[in-house]
Amino acid sequence: MKKTAKVKTFSPTEKNYVNIATGTYRAGELKGIIKINSQSCVGCDTCRHVCPADAINGAIGVAHSIDEMKCIACGQCLINCPFGAIEQLSFVEEVMKNLENKEKTVVAVIAPAVRVAIAEEFGAPPGTLTVGKLHNALKKAGFKIYENNLAADQTIMEEGSEFIAKVKYWLLGERSEELNKMANHPLPHFTSCCPGWVRYAEIYYPGLIPHISGTKSPMQIAGPSAKTWAALDIWKVDPRNVYTVGIMPCTAKIFEASRPEFKSSWKFLKEKGYIPEDTPPFPDTDVVLTTRDLATLLKMKGINPLELPEKENETETEIYTGAGTIFGNSGGVMEAALRTVYYILSEKEPPKWDFYAVRGHTDGLREAEIPITLKSGKTIVVKAAVVNGIKNHLDKIVKDVIKGTSPYHIIEVMNCPGGCIDGGGQPVNPMGTSWIDPLLPLRLNA
Ligand code: SF4
Ligand code: SF4
Ligand code: SF4
Repeated sequence: MKKTAKVKTFSPTEKNYVNIATGTYRAGELKGIIKINSQSCVGCDTCRHVCPADAINGAIGVAHSIDEMKCIACGQCLINCPFGAIEQLSFVEEVMKNLENKEKTVVAVIAPAVRVAIAEEFGAPPGTLTVGKLHNALKKAGFKIYENNLAADQTIMEEGSEFIAKVKYWLLGERSEELNKMANHPLPHFTSCCPGWVRYAEIYYPGLIPHISGTKSPMQIAGPSAKTWAALDIWKVDPRNVYTVGIMPCTAKIFEASRPEFKSSWKFLKEKGYIPEDTPPFPDTDVVLTTRDLATLLKMKGINPLELPEKENETETEIYTGAGTIFGNSGGVMEAALRTVYYILSEKEPPKWDFYAVRGHTDGLREAEIPITLKSGKTIVVKAAVVNGIKNHLDKIVKDVIKGTSPYHIIEVMNCPGGCIDGGGQPVNPMGTSWIDPLLPLRLNA
C-alpha cells in the first residue's frame, strides 16, 4: 500500500495573529495559514491554476508567493502542488499540550469528510470508512467527542427554517413581524457553511452578503454547544476548561475558528451567571486540526485507528442522522435542506428522501427543480443549484444573481472541487496532488 505524501507544517507565531484590522482581516483573525516555501518552489505555476482567489504571484520558473489579503485559506494550492512546496499552519503542538493538562476537557468535533479519509494516512485504501475506529482512537488519545454531524443536524433545521421564511415572504407573499425581517434577505438564498466561500464572497462579492444564510456552520454550532449544554449538563465540568478542537478536512476552517464574532458561548455563560462577569473572552472553537494534523497527532501518541474496534458506546454527543453525514460531499447541505423544507412546507414526507438530482461530486454545477405541494393545495417549484469548485463554476451563477436574472431560489456553494471530501486539509495522494484533479478541464482543452 502506497503511503500518502507528507505535508510540511509550521506552528503559529505572533505574525499569524492580526492585532488591528488590516486589509481584508479583522482584529483577532489568523492570517498566513497557507504559505509557499520559496526554497522548495520551482515555479511550475500549478498552484495558480487551482487558486480560486487569484492570490498567487510569480513568473513561471521563479518561486511563487501568496498574497495574504486575497487568500481565502482553502488549501487547494497545497494539495495540488506537485513539489510539496506549500506548508500549513498547524496547532498539533498546542492540542498535545492541552491533552496532557488534566484540568482541561479536550473536545474533538469531527467533520464527516474526515472519517472517510483518515484511514488513508494509516495505509488503508482511499474511502475506507472508520467512524467507530476514529471515535475510539480519539477517546484513547484523551478527547471527548462532540459530533460535528450532530451540529450539522442543528444547522439544517436552522438553515431550513431561514429558507422557508424567505419562501413565505418572497414567493408566497406572506407577512408577519417575523417574516418581514426577510425583506432584507432576498432570494436566492446561498448556503454559508463553507468558510472559503464566505470569505471569498466578503472579499470579491460583498453585495451578495444579504443573500447568504445567517446560519452558522456545523463546527460553529458544535463549539458553543460543547461549551454550554454538554459542559454543564453532560460532562459536568467548568466550561472555562473546555477546549474545543475542530477536526476538519479544511484549512479555511482554521481561519473560521478565529473569526471574532464566534464567542457566543462566552457571552451566554456570562449573561446567565455560569462564569464570572470579568472572564476574558474565549472562542467557541479554540483551534482546528486538519485530517492530516490528526494523523500526525495520533502517530505521535502511538495510536493507529485501524487497530481499534469499530464498535463503540455512543454518548449523547455522538449521535446524529444521515442528513448531518452527507454535508461532507457536494450537494449534501442542499439535500438535507430540501428534505427539511419539503417536510415542513407540505407537512408530508417527500416521495423519496433521496434528492439524487443535487448529488454528485464530479459535476461542478448541478441544478434541480423540486415541486412541493403546500398544505393549501398550491404547488410551488423550488429551483436549486449546487456549485462545487469556486474556481471554475461560480462566476456565471453570481453574475446572474447580481443582474437580478438568477432562476434559482437556493444555491449551495462549496469552494473545493467535489466539496469537503477534497478539502485542503485532506490527505495528499502518493503523487503529491489531490485525489480529484481540478485541472482536468484545462488538460482536456489543451
Ligand atoms: S505548485 Fe508548488 S512548485 Fe509549483 S509554483 Fe506553486 S508552490 Fe511552486
Ligand atoms: S490557500 Fe486557496 S486562496 Fe490561498 S493561495 Fe492557496 S489556493 Fe489560493
Ligand atoms: S468546501 Fe469544505 S473543505 Fe473546502 S473550503 Fe469549503 S468547507 Fe473547507
